[in-house]
Amino acid sequence: MNQTIYLDNAATTPLSPEVLEAMMPYMKEQFGNPSSAYVLGRRTRSAIEAARRSVASMLGVKNSTIYFTSGGTESNNTAIASAVRDLGCKHIITSRIEHHAVLHTVKHYARCSFVKLTPYGEVDYTDLNAQLREQADRGIKCLVSLMHANNEIGTLLEIERVGQLCRQYGAVFHSDCVQSIGHYPIDLAGCGVHFASASGHKFHGPKGIGLLYIAEGVAASPLILGGAQERNMRAGTENVYGIIGFARALEIAMSNFEQDSKHIKGLKEQLRTGLKETVPDLVIHSPDHSLYTVLSVGFPDKDLLTTFFDMAGICVSGGSACSSGDDAPSHVMAALNKTDFATVRFSFSKYNSPAEIDKTIDVVKNLFHVV
Ligand code: PLP
Repeated sequence: MNQTIYLDNAATTPLSPEVLEAMMPYMKEQFGNPSSAYVLGRRTRSAIEAARRSVASMLGVKNSTIYFTSGGTESNNTAIASAVRDLGCKHIITSRIEHHAVLHTVKHYARCSFVKLTPYGEVDYTDLNAQLREQADRGIKCLVSLMHANNEIGTLLEIERVGQLCRQYGAVFHSDCVQSIGHYPIDLAGCGVHFASASGHKFHGPKGIGLLYIAEGVAASPLILGGAQERNMRAGTENVYGIIGFARALEIAMSNFEQDSKHIKGLKEQLRTGLKETVPDLVIHSPDHSLYTVLSVGFPDKDLLTTFFDMAGICVSGGSACSSGDDAPSHVMAALNKTDFATVRFSFSKYNSPAEIDKTIDVVKNLFHVV
């Protein structure tokens, strides 16, 4: 049986063995509830606080600004709900290509408008400025929720620029950094964000663990009510081994960033060139300067492409994992008017190899009858 080739790392990544090793003691002997006062509780409490210190220092922020959550979806929900409920935001400016964890949430909580985008999904900053000015002139406080890196086509946001615009107009800024934290060194304090979300399973950490950064001085209140965990900001017994795994995964990602990102960029370029030679009339949806882990490709005239890849043992998706199941265009492709193509998102990790990319190109050659 052929080995499966996994090229869907924007959906989730395999847990790295080093991360599992760091988590194991907390799945076995160190099982104490961190809220318990006796020794087993004190040990897990101090492990959580060490993880928080490590994560905070890698993100350039104070420990007190980091809250562990169940993942990107919860972090996005908490940030958006809090901006509306606690910070007085009455209008939300977002984009049509946000992840559903933002898009459905903003629509639920407030009146929204959508910033104009270029065909590659880049924010039109002149339009963002005009929308912020219009709301400010009317005395309406805004939340701007824009993702740092798009999960389907890899478009990057000029996050500091948006931070500056938000500061200029007194707007609150939330950025879904689920596809960028763990993939780039990021100084959150310098970005001008009030809220930022991250998720462990996107960079070889475990599933079901994420974080919400809440900038100092932001008077946020929790979404999930109950106990006093996470300094009253997120109730529920902490996911101790998830937190340990998140911190370890981020440490590994940041210390190997240069080497891993170079390797992954090489794979992306290898695939882009190989596919373009094989099918000259395909289009590359990802902008030239994009998230290095994602290559979104529009193939002409082919139905059921992702199924075909699946049958060939290659795991890819048509859009995000949340919109998979058929080859129908995702909300991102629809928003960017790219529905004339069969879109395949290839997304890479440090565990992929050039040989896997060659094999993928061979599969495409076979599909398009190129000999
Ligand atoms: N935001 C983006 C950009 C994502 O890619 C994802 C995951 O698919 C999420 C949010 C949701 O994160 P989680 O799976 O941790 O809830």
